[in-house]
Amino acid sequence: MAMTPLDEIRHSSSHVLATAVLRLFPEAQLDIGPPTDSGFYYDFDLDHKFTTEDLAKIEAEMKKVIDENQPFKRTEVPRAEAVEIIKKIGQERYKLGRLGDIPEGEAISFYQNGDFIDLCAGTHVRYTKQIKAFKLLSIAGAYHRGDEKNKQLQRIYGTAFASKDELAQYLDRMEQAKLRDHRKLGKDLKLFVIDDDVGQGLVLWTPAGSVIRQELQNFISEELRKQGYSQVFTPHIGKLALYKTSGHFPYYKESQFTPIIDPDQLAQIAKEGCSCAEMTARLDAVSEGFRQEINRRSGREAIPVERTKADETLLDGFLLKPMNCPHHIKIFASQPHSYRDLPVRLAEFGTVYRWEQSGELNGMTRVRGFTQDDAHLFCTEEQVGPEVLGCLSLVKIVLSTLGMSDYRVRVGLRDPDSNKYTGATENWDKAEAACREAAKTLGVPFTEEPGEAAFYGPKIDFVVKDVIGREWQLGTVQVDYNLPVRFDLSYSGADNQPHRPVMIHRAPFGSMERFCGVLIEHFAGDFPVWLSPEQVRLVPISEKTLDYGRNLLAQLKAAGVRASLDEHNDKLGAKIRRSEVEKVPYTLVLGGKEAEAQSVSVRSRAKGDEGVLPFAQYLERLKTEIATRALPEKTQKPAVESQK
Ligand SMILES: [Zn+2]
Ligand SMILES: [Zn+2]
Repeated sequence: MAMTPLDEIRHSSSHVLATAVLRLFPEAQLDIGPPTDSGFYYDFDLDHKFTTEDLAKIEAEMKKVIDENQPFKRTEVPRAEAVEIIKKIGQERYKLGRLGDIPEGEAISFYQNGDFIDLCAGTHVRYTKQIKAFKLLSIAGAYHRGDEKNKQLQRIYGTAFASKDELAQYLDRMEQAKLRDHRKLGKDLKLFVIDDDVGQGLVLWTPAGSVIRQELQNFISEELRKQGYSQVFTPHIGKLALYKTSGHFPYYKESQFTPIIDPDQLAQIAKEGCSCAEMTARLDAVSEGFRQEINRRSGREAIPVERTKADETLLDGFLLKPMNCPHHIKIFASQPHSYRDLPVRLAEFGTVYRWEQSGELNGMTRVRGFTQDDAHLFCTEEQVGPEVLGCLSLVKIVLSTLGMSDYRVRVGLRDPDSNKYTGATENWDKAEAACREAAKTLGVPFTEEPGEAAFYGPKIDFVVKDVIGREWQLGTVQVDYNLPVRFDLSYSGADNQPHRPVMIHRAPFGSMERFCGVLIEHFAGDFPVWLSPEQVRLVPISEKTLDYGRNLLAQLKAAGVRASLDEHNDKLGAKIRRSEVEKVPYTLVLGGKEAEAQSVSVRSRAKGDEGVLPFAQYLERLKTEIATRALPEKTQKPAVESQK
């Protein structure tokens, strides 16, 4: 096993962790302790449940082991002797099984530091003192060999770095990430809800969260109108036959909800006494027959309507939309097109459904139903370049408006040695050149990645870095030669002959759910004013200025500002604090002097106390800030109150 120097530090730390645990809990049975991308862990079987206090004790013991500067010594032994060693050290429960995993003929080695001996292939640092910066992080349950049928062990996670500085930076980033966690902030700020009764992975947008989504959609729609897109709406389901033509069924069957079988057909099947097993078999037969048909045509030939309909007598139904493309294609195909009409750009915030494993679900970023900022462009070969560039420019505008200026694009190209790609080589050459050219023209860093294209065309992915340096892969732009063939799309060219259009799929932000999740973390909940669910909070000092507050509230609302008046009977400090905890960008404090002078005392989240301003002047400034979608002047560090 080739380990990097950092892997070696981390893996050695896991040995030191096990050393310390055995000193404190000699009865512990050890399983494994590999390095990970961000640290290391070790799995223990122990009746005593580890607590956070234990972590501190174990950490202290680890420091002793490190200070003892024990060398790591390797010994290779024959298998029979390995069994003896494992018995001698009393670690039979898991280590014998792990020994059994080592194939015959491969070296069997043990590493020893101090009194601690572990079955391990290596490699390690030479002395424990070379572990200069480590920290234990958490305790979690983990099934032996990741299998729920096995016993659940206790896993202790830790991390280690080459230097104390790097460790400190990492811990700071983790702390920041925790404060920014969209699942926590989403709950605290009441932006979205996931309810078990509705279903895991299904996001319920609350009124506050919906404001953010609506503002984003309005903003994106405005840009789309400027770029000549047409808005469309399509239903959430479509017939199975449609997805057979598109290839989404049966090819992506595993990631889809089970089809909704036509109720009449279902009744008929029930009358025939067909069992669930038989029905599943029928559905599989339908899929298989179609898979073969598609393979035979291998995407170079249109699928005739009769073929997609042929299976309906066997079994038909509807699919929850896994993609919006087939619906948009049918809109395009509903009219004859001349080359003069192209490109046709159809946009929809289209909701789709995917079957994600429950273990994969995560807040807003991994869900089972989501709304893509989707669009499909139908264009001529020559238009591919400019259209791809248009898609990229849109993303650039939106990202820079949101203060996400640090991003790169990945251009996915063909694997030159593979023949899995559909479409003519010269088209591919042109499309790849167009994508590369577009990325260049955009003037952002990009990498070319051969083998990363889809089988139907090259694609461009966006990878955005947020303020704490984490990378988020957002959506893609994909050029597609395949679906226009499958659906037999055409337009009439200048030569009056039918030509095949090229399709571009683009959902640059992926989905509204994911994008909002990323934005919550990016802003740490401190949204720019234009996105804030509540933009202004009016806080009267006492009942005496309540009427003044009501008057200002009416003026703010008339100006289209989302504002509220705090009418609670609390102390002023409590009211201000509440507004801050709820991350309202502006809190206007209204005292007697302010009421008299028609002014407000302004506190902003970005700049703190801004002093007293005439209300009219403040309102003008606010309106401009909203209309220009200005960013908060300071970059966001999560405020202290979110820690509580
Ligand atoms: Zn090891
Ligand atoms: Zn699509």
